[in-house]
Amino acid sequence: MSRWIQSFEVPSTSGPGTYVVSRDKQGVYACSCPHFIYRRGACKHIRTVQEHARTAPTHPVPPTCIAANVCAVTAGENNTVLVPLLPIGHTDFLATMIVDLLLHRVPFDLIRRHYHLPKHTSRQDYIDHVLSHGRYIYAGADGRFTNRYITHTDHWQLPEPLHSQESPEAYHHRTGAPLDLVRIAVPRAAPTESSTTRSIAPDPSPPAPHRRYGQRRIILPTESETFE
Ligand SMILES: [Zn+2]
Repeated sequence: MSRWIQSFEVPSTSGPGTYVVSRDKQGVYACSCPHFIYRRGACKHIRTVQEHARTAPTHPVPPTCIAANVCAVTAGENNTVLVPLLPIGHTDFLATMIVDLLLHRVPFDLIRRHYHLPKHTSRQDYIDHVLSHGRYIYAGADGRFTNRYITHTDHWQLPEPLHSQESPEAYHHRTGAPLDLVRIAVPRAAPTESSTTRSIAPDPSPPAPHRRYGQRRIILPTESETFE
């Protein structure tokens, strides 16, 4: 497992391109820029990230998305989101995945860029699509990648377990999940998910090449808009 629990893309100030600043559990930072690599000193990219963390404590850092062998978008450890492989051409699955990523606090602009969503579509369009067509996720007899198929589900999966008697507003304030989606998801949350889903770990081995749905691996880089 990687030492780094968070990473951030920071644009270079001297030219095109970005550097990646990573932070470990102890709060130690590293950067991919030459200044850091050759001098091991805090560079301006690290200072940018630290400054952001200090000045924006009320806006939790968006999670890092990791492609994983999961049935649906699932919260991972240390502010990560595990993202299933996208079956090409399955609009209902894509819409479900987009709405789930939004619920997990991934900004729409980032989702739009990385899935090359059409310019004329809005965040609300995907929410409306899921509300009218339903949610589609992977299912499999044994949860393994090889026997996976796409299934319809009425249940929504919350990024974090709901406390008993917790209102959607309280959940929103506690977790930072968008309130409009929390209001949709909470009444539809699967009853037993809170205690079981969080312990499911992604398969650490890379999935075997598999063409059944024309899958491709999608890795969303970390959030970068806040530093531009
Ligand atoms: Zn740097």
